[in-house]
Amino acid sequence: MTVLPPNSMLSAMSASDLSVLRPHIKTVAFRHRHVLYEPGDTVDRAYFPHTGMISVVPVMADGCGVETATIGNEGIFGAMTGFAPYTTTARVLVQTPLTVSQIAAGPFREIAGRSTAMRTLIAHYHEALLAQVQITAACNALHPIHERLARWLLQTSDRLDGLVLPLTQELLSGMLGVRRSSVSKAAGKLQQAGLIQYNRGSIRIVHRHALESATCECYEAIKQSALQHTQGSIGAGTLPGSQRLDLGNLFHPRAPG
Ligand SMILES: [Zn+2]
Repeated sequence: MTVLPPNSMLSAMSASDLSVLRPHIKTVAFRHRHVLYEPGDTVDRAYFPHTGMISVVPVMADGCGVETATIGNEGIFGAMTGFAPYTTTARVLVQTPLTVSQIAAGPFREIAGRSTAMRTLIAHYHEALLAQVQITAACNALHPIHERLARWLLQTSDRLDGLVLPLTQELLSGMLGVRRSSVSKAAGKLQQAGLIQYNRGSIRIVHRHALESATCECYEAIKQSALQHTQGSIGAGTLPGSQRLDLGNLFHPRAPG
């Protein structure tokens, strides 16, 4: 039986909210590159990742896209289904093998409608996600590729809680919206400085602290914004850390449905 790491948003909920939510939650595993939604699809579930990462990639008419947000076990994809149904304008895909607690939009909305604390948590997380999208859009337009690559590696390392990242040049090129040769050049620069080790299909962060110094301000800005927006919700009206329910012990993955 696999024990899953907790999802911060579920951990921040009160015991009473969780007990109402729990019967509606399914734990599901998705493979790498699985597309959860295409642009124009109605988001019909909320996803609370335990492992892995979800990418939000707006796609242009010519098929090109660039990642504007990532969501891991710190967050929720589809949080706003807790308020109202909505249509996504981006492709939403599984970036690294993913295990989530998922809940259908209907019961999520019904339960959130009865809990001020849950609605506050959703609203604060949405603000944090919006800030991430805004900062990432500015970063994509203004900062050099090797700094953006460093940001992406640090964010991915945070989401996966590891220093060895299963990333190909093709994937990085798609996420950063640049040519593979540009990714190769930027990765070479970071490797030459001794910050990463780049092998076929994976990147190992050798000096994390130095990589943090090599990235632009956006990595820290996104992190601080997430803390600022979610701290109020996590601090108030929820279980103290020591009493939080370990969702990893409550939910266990099953095969994709
Ligand atoms: Zn930047």
